[in-house]
Amino acid sequence: MTGLPQMPIVARLDLATLTLPESHPASQAGTTTPVYGYCILHPDGPILVDTGVGFGNDVIDELYKPQRTPLDEALRRHGVELTDVVAVINSHLHFDHCGQNTLLYGRPIPVLAQAAEYEAIERDEYYTVAEWALPPVRQRRTIQGDERVAEGVTILATPGHTPGHQSVLVQGGDRRVIIGAQAVWALDELLGEQASVENVEANPDRQMAAVDSIRRIKAFKPHTVYFSHCPPFESTEHG
Ligand SMILES: [Zn+2]
Repeated sequence: MTGLPQMPIVARLDLATLTLPESHPASQAGTTTPVYGYCILHPDGPILVDTGVGFGNDVIDELYKPQRTPLDEALRRHGVELTDVVAVINSHLHFDHCGQNTLLYGRPIPVLAQAAEYEAIERDEYYTVAEWALPPVRQRRTIQGDERVAEGVTILATPGHTPGHQSVLVQGGDRRVIIGAQAVWALDELLGEQASVENVEANPDRQMAAVDSIRRIKAFKPHTVYFSHCPPFESTEHG
């Protein structure tokens, strides 16, 4: 896993705010959560990690009352045009992580998700919004475990929240950053190496997998870890 000579900018995209429904494990009346995607400003071209909530699904709109930023607008705030994007990585295929993938369907760029996510969609019709989550077959790059995506950019399998959840390690200069996405729901899970009911429900297998994934992320001794629904972790170890 070699790095780039310099750490590329990892831009945070503020893609949406959701109001969580009563049925959500993290919900108290009116609880809202941010939805962040990320864009790695890689020398080969911008690599997008997650695309937020899509448009036009009445069930999602009714349940989560999403306030969305269009993906092209969120990217433009960082000087990136949608047409510049060279690859899309989905941390997992829940509706709030792949919703605006559709804007990139039909373009000659790959969309990378784990095989276990596509299997989850086949098993459970309520897993996600399939028309957002499923790219045209020719764009689909199905990942099994870890994979190098570009110089200094490596996908790391970090299951727990979902069976095929993945994170992205970015290495440049003497720095390491991990986009941990929804490996945790809140920062204290990373600090305390524990899984929360909010992220994995009361499911012992998922809890165990999530804790293993948290330990895996920390073992890289990253300088920064970015998440989908909470603020980043900034290491103090590196001075
Ligand atoms: Zn999720």
